[in-house]
Amino acid sequence: MAECINHPGKEGLYKCSRCKKYFCLACVELIDDKAYCYDCLKEIVKDVRGETRKSLTMRILAASLLALLVAIVSLHDAYALLEYLPTYIYRMSVGSHETFDSSLLTWTPSLIIGLAFLALGFGLATTKKWSYWYGIALSAVILIFDLIGAINLGGISYFIDNPMSNVSLFHEAMMIGPLLLLVAVFGSRRELTGW
Ligand SMILES: [Zn+2]
Ligand SMILES: [Zn+2]
Repeated sequence: MAECINHPGKEGLYKCSRCKKYFCLACVELIDDKAYCYDCLKEIVKDVRGETRKSLTMRILAASLLALLVAIVSLHDAYALLEYLPTYIYRMSVGSHETFDSSLLTWTPSLIIGLAFLALGFGLATTKKWSYWYGIALSAVILIFDLIGAINLGGISYFIDNPMSNVSLFHEAMMIGPLLLLVAVFGSRRELTGW
């Protein structure tokens, strides 16, 4: 007769499915007709926790990279302004009196949106709590604005007629990016907010 490891003299009727040692009924938990001792259950819980944490990190990382990608697309759209600003500030600092080329200010929204997504990428990468609502709000607003912009361009027919134009690619990126981000940030709720 096998004895329970914890209780000498008591019959070890149950064999742990993981460590293969014998235990009495009081020393095991029966799950799906299989017996597990408590030491093994602790190890199993630790393993599951470790795996869950790893997959959560991957999800946050994906959302963060996506935010960075959208930021790059938007900042690239504003590159004329981005290029001009430092030159202008430099010229002003050395005493030049040229007037600011205000036509470049049309790219201000792209610049601000780019910086806003850059901040989101940073918030997600450092799992900041605010990045949850901020990410959802920012992605939703940009998605809606871009949908309206695309409709003003002529809707689907514009994209079909000019599939590879810069305008088409920019609008597509600024619709697909925030849409995916919405899903990614929403899916990372638990890691970001803890509930
Ligand atoms: Zn065991
Ligand atoms: Zn026992």
